[in-house]
Amino acid sequence: MMQEFMSFISVVGQTFTRNAPISIALAVVFTVLTWFSACNPGRPWWRKRDLVTDLCYWLFIPVITRFLRIGLLIAAAAFILGITTGDGLIAFYENGHGPLAALPLAAQAVIFLIGEDIILYWTHRWFHGKRFWKYHAVHHSSEELEWISAARFHPVNLFLGSVLADVVMLFAGISPNVFVVLGPLTVAHSAFVHANLDWTLGPFKYVIASPVFHRWHHTAAERGGEKNFAATFPILDILFGTFYMPAGELPDRYGIADRSFPQSFGAQLVHPFTR
Ligand SMILES: [Zn+2]
Ligand SMILES: [Zn+2]
Repeated sequence: MMQEFMSFISVVGQTFTRNAPISIALAVVFTVLTWFSACNPGRPWWRKRDLVTDLCYWLFIPVITRFLRIGLLIAAAAFILGITTGDGLIAFYENGHGPLAALPLAAQAVIFLIGEDIILYWTHRWFHGKRFWKYHAVHHSSEELEWISAARFHPVNLFLGSVLADVVMLFAGISPNVFVVLGPLTVAHSAFVHANLDWTLGPFKYVIASPVFHRWHHTAAERGGEKNFAATFPILDILFGTFYMPAGELPDRYGIADRSFPQSFGAQLVHPFTR
């Protein structure tokens, strides 16, 4: 028991140490960029009202994601393929498997990004439905939207969103080595689309999600909130009729309609289970 506890603490420590340099780099970069090109001028991110809540998500979500992902990878191999031994799991996942793993790593990365974005587009729309909104409302609860709001996700949303998408792609055969390169890039891009920047990326606005594209998603439904579901590739929103970036306008006023929604990390985690 003590050994399990110590290895849990070591994984938590490793995740914190791995995320620290990228977090510091993002903080510096977005502080400077927002100074010059804020989408919504106002107080800096470190003075936002619910900074402590954002910091808790920023610190703990990578740890929670890691454990949820490992759990779902093990469960998928056991229930679908009957693989239950440690060696069997390593052989199945360690370097990928099947035709996808035979492709060069760059090709696997492209397939991973596209496959994952399609899954995330549809799970995201699903979380905007009546039944699952209570979990996704956590992500939309930030009224002062900043790069650091990017990690605000309820664990149920994570599990049936990005963790599910990761596991589907790994189960299909993509090598986990793809994560080594794409992991930090995904974190950086997610922080970028939430950053307080007036960047639309001009003609590339259809190619890659920009801060203005995603900030519209965080506005109220009548302002554009039920649009722009794609995490990375806005082409998905064009294909499915949910693209929204009105020319010459910038999004403002973020958050959710429910005034009684809790603001603290702990209260937000239990909130969906209280009704
Ligand atoms: Zn959403
Ligand atoms: Zn968001």
